[in-house]
Amino acid sequence: MLTNLLDFDAAGLTAFFAGQGEKPFRARQVLRWMHRFGQDDFDAMTDIARSLREKLQAIAVVTPPAVVSDKRSGDGTRKFLFDVGGGNAVETVFIPEDDRGTLCVSTQAGCALDCSFCSTGKQGFNRNLTVAEIIGQLWQANRALGFDPRGDRIISNVVLMGMGEPLANFENSVVALRLMLDDNAYGLSRRRVTVSTSGLVPAMDRLRDECPVALAVSLHAPNDTLRDELVPINRKYPLRELMAACHRYLEKAPRDFVTFEYVMLDGVNDSDAHARELLALTRDVPCKFNLIPFNPFPGSPYLRSPAPRIRRFAEILIEAGVVTTTRKTRGDDIDAACGQLAGQVLDRTRRTENRVIEIREIPS
Ligand code: SAH
Ligand code: SF4
Repeated sequence: MLTNLLDFDAAGLTAFFAGQGEKPFRARQVLRWMHRFGQDDFDAMTDIARSLREKLQAIAVVTPPAVVSDKRSGDGTRKFLFDVGGGNAVETVFIPEDDRGTLCVSTQAGCALDCSFCSTGKQGFNRNLTVAEIIGQLWQANRALGFDPRGDRIISNVVLMGMGEPLANFENSVVALRLMLDDNAYGLSRRRVTVSTSGLVPAMDRLRDECPVALAVSLHAPNDTLRDELVPINRKYPLRELMAACHRYLEKAPRDFVTFEYVMLDGVNDSDAHARELLALTRDVPCKFNLIPFNPFPGSPYLRSPAPRIRRFAEILIEAGVVTTTRKTRGDDIDAACGQLAGQVLDRTRRTENRVIEIREIPS
């Protein structure tokens, strides 16, 4: 079996090289070639002795997931679809903004947490992505997007906010995060790398201790009754515990606030009373709000809150002194908006299955 070197962070690669009787600086050299320079051919790693290059060719590979499609939206958003084998595909979205370029990376094929408004959740869980599949999305997107005229990488920020729950694939997500932060790899600051979680409380504590980066928490409801329904993991880790975990996270976080994501669902969680309840809930947590207009997908049971409703909801938060932004819906012409990511290959089969089930359930 050939070893995929994209599966290792610096420590893992050093251990791999030690196993081959090689010095740690060799691991550093190869890490740089792979991630800084995007090199996947050992033969081109010219400062490494020919004998070692030949050995690596015999025992190892540098293999990111293959790009199945690369679509560009009218607004500059770009969506990559990656084949991760076994009929599974995952999506990665690049979002250009004036002052940064953000890559939204997937961590699982599907997701087990089944939030009621999420297309990925509706697919069910297929499997965790490997480290090579997670970091390989950044590797491939960097290769496609390259550098700006000043010589800086176009991708300046990464969010683990694509398909899947990053903290439910904790080990692999953390190794990938370490590579993003490593100066010999992507060298991103902890403030420019964000993990988005639906609120896996014990894993939030582990992330704080093992690899603190910026944190976004998908809140979506101001009380347990509603959140139990929208984000079922709330039944296990209710809001009181989640707010306490946010507090603990901030003790070691690179940023001094948590971003709360809140999907705006028409008539479900978007009233003035909900906004006030939200302020009371989060009173003790330094935070910002990011309101996400709901993005519909085939068969979704909700509607997007009307724009004036979203504006009023935001105003209530802002008037209380909480920084609140409303996410621009980007890339919806290519199904790249939040919650629309579905990994088409599998999704098509599932939708057909669902249809069959629906027909059977029609009462006679
Ligand atoms: N599992 C993690 C990260 C991936 S989801 C999490 O839940 O945080 C990324 C964000 O997209 C989350 O805030 C999620 O709630 C939101 N989202 C999911 N489905 C959506 C939809 N249909 N419309 C808008 N946002 C959605
Ligand atoms: Fe999973 Fe996040 Fe979707 Fe919930 S919103 S089902 S946690 S990907």
